[in-house]
Amino acid sequence: MKQKINLAAILIAIFFIYSCKNTNNSHKKEDAVTQVKEVKKEHSKKDCNDVHWSHHKGEHGPENWKNLCDDFTDCGGNAQSPIDIISQSAVKDGGLNALKFNYGKSKVNIINNGHTVQFNADGENVVKINDKDYKLLQFHYHALSEHTINGKHFPLEVHFVHKHSDKDFAVLGIMFVEGKENELFKKYLEHFPTKKATYKADETIDLFKLFPENKSYFYYSGSLTTPPCSEVVSWYVLKNPVEASKEQIEKFSKILDNNYRPIQPLNGRKIKLFDK
Ligand SMILES: [Zn+2]
Repeated sequence: MKQKINLAAILIAIFFIYSCKNTNNSHKKEDAVTQVKEVKKEHSKKDCNDVHWSHHKGEHGPENWKNLCDDFTDCGGNAQSPIDIISQSAVKDGGLNALKFNYGKSKVNIINNGHTVQFNADGENVVKINDKDYKLLQFHYHALSEHTINGKHFPLEVHFVHKHSDKDFAVLGIMFVEGKENELFKKYLEHFPTKKATYKADETIDLFKLFPENKSYFYYSGSLTTPPCSEVVSWYVLKNPVEASKEQIEKFSKILDNNYRPIQPLNGRKIKLFDK
């Protein structure tokens, strides 16, 4: 009798251990599935931040930016930049106003981020457009120019990136032509980092002097020209260029290494002209 009870106890114990194990296993499985899902989710998010992209043709090149990760899909959108500006088709628009600059003197950090040479300026530099303030975040360079005018590239283009809100940027683009020495390049070209690095400049510079005197512009609605290519940019491409010497342009172009995005289709967008 005692033996029977013992046997029954053992059988019950085995049953419990077995069923517990089973429950544990199925919990473990569910946990594992959830974990994989979370890792995947995190992975694709992280992917977009860390994803490698390039200006040069190939797997990571401009034609493929839209496929590199979820947040880059705008790169395949309908209102992308840069574009070719056909000056004949730009419509003079009385509704456009002169850009009102409220730029001060700034100290700058010159950064090579692997895609461009960028100047981060301290202090408040603001441009007022249609009574809205846009704060200067940074300016950076492309070689060749990203925008073309009547199908023609310029050797360099600078972009002054201003922000009003997350969905409202104003970027001012200025073309370079070969001519007299450029004062800013004369001061700093020697210090432009040729690979990922930062140079802190000591002096303050007068940013307003980097613009041409006549600030007539072409306006159109477009995007950032690098991933994520968000379509949040009002573009003001100045009609008049600034100058730099042949030597300066050659030296800088070597560092920039063809960091320009190919021309994007206009898709019915209108280009407007403010001419003074
Ligand atoms: Zn740019």
